[in-house]
Amino acid sequence: MSSNVVEGSSVNGEAQYLRANRLVARALPHPDETWHRATAPPLVAETISKLLANHIIEIAVRHGAPTDHNAHLYRTRESAYRYATECLDDPTTLDCGHTGIRNLGGGEYTCGREGCPVRVDRATAREVLSG
Ligand SMILES: [Zn+2]
Repeated sequence: MSSNVVEGSSVNGEAQYLRANRLVARALPHPDETWHRATAPPLVAETISKLLANHIIEIAVRHGAPTDHNAHLYRTRESAYRYATECLDDPTTLDCGHTGIRNLGGGEYTCGREGCPVRVDRATAREVLSG
C-alpha cells in the first residue's frame, strides 16, 4: 500500500520533467538496453544527474564512486520510457499533458481542457490541429 503511494508520486515527477524536456524524453534509450554516459545520446549524457533525480533512469550496474557518472551502467526506467513514448510522441499532446485546442479567435488558442489555463501559440496549434 505505502509503496504504491511512493510509486505514484515518482511517476508524476517523471511526467513533469519529461513534458518540460521533450527532446531529452525522445532521446531516451529503450529500457532493455544498458548504456554508459559515453555511449548515451548527447542530450541524455548531459542530463544524467537530473534524470536520476527525477527517476527517469536508474543505475543498472554501479562502478566506482557513487558520484562518478562516467563509470556506472545506466538504464531507462520502464515507466518513464512508457510515458515518453506514449504521451510525448503523440504530437497532439500539449505541454500540460492534455489533448485538444480551443480556438479563441484572433489568433489566440488555449488548451481544450475545461479549466486548464495553458496558452498555445499559433504554430503549435496548427501542428496539433493538423496532426
Ligand atoms: Zn491543458
